[in-house]
Amino acid sequence: MVAPGFQFDTSYTRLPSAFYHRLVPDPVTQPSLVLLNERLANQLGLSFEDLALQEQAALLAGNQMPPASTPLVMAYAGHQFGHFTLLGDGRAHLLGEHIAPDGSRFDLQFKGSGQTPFSRRGDGRAALEPMLREYLISEAMHELGIPTTRSLSVVQTGELVQRETPLKGAVLLRVAQSHLRVGTFQWAAAQGKPEWLQALVDYTIERHYPACLDHANPPLAMLEQCISRQMNLIVEWMRVGFIHGVMNTDNMTLSGETIDYGPCAFLDHYHPEKVFSYIDRGGRYAFGNQSRVAWWNLARLAETLLPLLDATPSKAIEKAEAILNTFEEQFQQRWLDMMRRKCGLVKPLPDDAELIQSLLTWMQETKADYTLTFASLTHPSMPWEGSGPSVRHVDWYERWQQRLREERSDPNKSFGLMQAHNPVIIPRNHQVERALKAASMDDLGLLENLLKALKAPYQLESKPKDLLQPPSETEAIRHTYCGT
Ligand code: AMP
Ligand code: MG
Repeated sequence: MVAPGFQFDTSYTRLPSAFYHRLVPDPVTQPSLVLLNERLANQLGLSFEDLALQEQAALLAGNQMPPASTPLVMAYAGHQFGHFTLLGDGRAHLLGEHIAPDGSRFDLQFKGSGQTPFSRRGDGRAALEPMLREYLISEAMHELGIPTTRSLSVVQTGELVQRETPLKGAVLLRVAQSHLRVGTFQWAAAQGKPEWLQALVDYTIERHYPACLDHANPPLAMLEQCISRQMNLIVEWMRVGFIHGVMNTDNMTLSGETIDYGPCAFLDHYHPEKVFSYIDRGGRYAFGNQSRVAWWNLARLAETLLPLLDATPSKAIEKAEAILNTFEEQFQQRWLDMMRRKCGLVKPLPDDAELIQSLLTWMQETKADYTLTFASLTHPSMPWEGSGPSVRHVDWYERWQQRLREERSDPNKSFGLMQAHNPVIIPRNHQVERALKAASMDDLGLLENLLKALKAPYQLESKPKDLLQPPSETEAIRHTYCGT
């Protein structure tokens, strides 16, 4: 077999051995390649072209371990819907950390690759549709410019997985800056070994926050930086109408990347309380609740770090609280700045928050489509259907025009901001479901079209019109499922 160019250097194995188990994926009976992300492979310095299709599939299903790989599964814990549980990779295997040609380090991790000591009652497997969903949405997020794990490939296993009905099985290969999560810290803290926690903090700082080493209190600086990255991430989700759906602490990364595309979805019409996830009955992870949940998760991270923040417990708490207490105000500020950009406001003026809120209230009351409203403000000459205030909410539109004139900025600058922050296309739930259904019946046409259209999501040129449209009443998807 020709080597595809892996450069493994798995630093995770230098952590205390309790953090992971070395374990190879369970081979699958009949691997066949469904999707391979060649652009991503290129960026990683990987090339699968010289391998026969069979060999590609065997490699990307985890049937064949490349030389120097160090397959392992990670231990972690997590608060799931507020309840603390010891978890760990129950159906995922790290193939190794790969060093890309530019020197950057990535985890390559199989998902759906078989049982592990952390599987609990799970079968260790994944179904095809949810893995294609993760591929599609994570790549769409990347194209939108939002920090995210990525997807290198999806392979069908040739085996069935038993869910409510038997489904086709699949393995995804996920690419991440790392799989360090808030839950990894919770696991380490729960072990009652201060030296393990210290090792994890040192490791995380080296991998994601090297500048914190220059700080007088590196764990405190790391906490502050991590909170800042998460804040930016949630603001970005709000910008494009993304609802993660399962913001458990095990699904929040230290790198600041979006991870774990389960029942996630994008807003069609705007409503701050919107929930798609079938299992989120209480709306804990609703669209407008995401900053509060992020704060809650980050408070759990801060708790694990307390012993390292100060030798005196009360001082440690004070230090953590001082950072956490600034969250709400900072988040509001960053959110407002982001919304200003969506509205093309170059200079801040005192009434902006009210102006923006009145647009959101109008959208909520009239069930206006979130993406289309901003796209139609950005590109008013387009014949948008079912669209925004340019056509329908005349009062607000005139007020906004007046506000733009007031600041006397170059209109091109305003347009540039709006164009760069208002996508014309998002992966709409009804389109996604349609494409996945067809793909599960071996017709990849819709999925490939959708993937193509989701590239360059801020450019209007050559986008298929039907993919820009919100769903009709009958097409609208009301619930998404975890798919585990
Ligand atoms: P998730 O909801 O995907 O973040 O997963 C939460 C936990 O459940 C993780 O520890 C997963 O590894 C585990 N898990 C999810 N699905 C399965 C499965 N089919 N088999 C074993 N473990 C699973
Ligand atoms: Mg998870």
